[in-house]
Amino acid sequence: MKAILVREFGGPEVLKFEEAPTPKPGAGQVLVRIHAAGVNPYDTYMRSGTYAVKPPLPYTPGSDAAGVIDAVGEGVKKVKPGDRVYTAKTVTGAYAQYALALEEQVHPLPEKISFGQGAGVWVPYGTAYHALHHSAKARASETVLVHGASGGVGIASVQFARAMGLTVFGTAGTQKGLELVRREGAHQVFDHSKTGYQEEILRATGGRGLDIILEMLANVNLAHDLKLLATRGRVIVIGNRGEVTINARELMGRRASIRAFTLWGITPAEENEIHAGIAAGLANGTLRPIVGKELPLAEAVRAHKEILEPGAAGKMVLVP
Ligand code: NAP
Repeated sequence: MKAILVREFGGPEVLKFEEAPTPKPGAGQVLVRIHAAGVNPYDTYMRSGTYAVKPPLPYTPGSDAAGVIDAVGEGVKKVKPGDRVYTAKTVTGAYAQYALALEEQVHPLPEKISFGQGAGVWVPYGTAYHALHHSAKARASETVLVHGASGGVGIASVQFARAMGLTVFGTAGTQKGLELVRREGAHQVFDHSKTGYQEEILRATGGRGLDIILEMLANVNLAHDLKLLATRGRVIVIGNRGEVTINARELMGRRASIRAFTLWGITPAEENEIHAGIAAGLANGTLRPIVGKELPLAEAVRAHKEILEPGAAGKMVLVP
């Protein structure tokens, strides 16, 4: 099979498109024929060797894929060859034509969801669900700002929050991104590349402030986010790419809080709940993964450059 292999940590150029042996499923494992693989920002941090999770070399990147079960190992009961699935982590890596996964790492992909969309399910929708339900404990009628709503996690958060009955504000840095965020359910959108947009957001809450901020770029926004919070407001740090100084006094008077997580740290019970929530949303149409850019697997180097550039409009996927 063809696969991307990383033999040394470094820049995007260490992603090599190579011939590799097609793996065989052992007991409790399945072999997935991959039709699309999701590109997540963390794939680039891991490839550079600076991330908290450092895989042994060589490795094939990617946790998110969608495809069809090709073969199953001994004892597998959940799926059979021919079943459409999305993956939530794999054993051998998603940037490939085939991947081994544990039986519990594959989940049914409804017919109406394309493979490209399926490759954008796990990290984006898992993160959005965890942020809103487990971390923010969001309730209907609250107001949420999805700060960075045009990318994978942002669109997922907008769709979930709208379906839960929140008032949803979203930001993007391009006209295309703003239009997408509005179309996917935001009540109001704001351009985070425009000076003074934070004051516009505060005005849009009638001066009351936001109950929840889902933050995709905390190193840039966290200090100012605190000034936008309502009493008992909470900022959920999802993305962060550097250091930031905050004034804790902004939290004290508001009895506000900053919470943070990584998807790697969630419990099995939380993960079960997330997949049940995703299954319901994909089935009833409230969750509609958006594929913004589709590239051939051979162009993984380009994908790793472009995923970190501004101008997101949904999810980037690789097609083997
Ligand atoms: P993505 O698809 O690349 O989207 C990036 C988003 O950040 C876009 O909406 C982009 O908007 C926005 N952005 C750019 N500049 C911004 C600014 N100044 N203020 C606010 N937003 C800004 O990435 P993603 O998959 O959605 O992930 C978003 C972040 O969360 C990444 O840093 C990722 O590593 C992190 N993440 C963390 C977890 C976790 O477990 N904690 C899980 C998933 C993702 P424009 O392009 O329109 O400017």
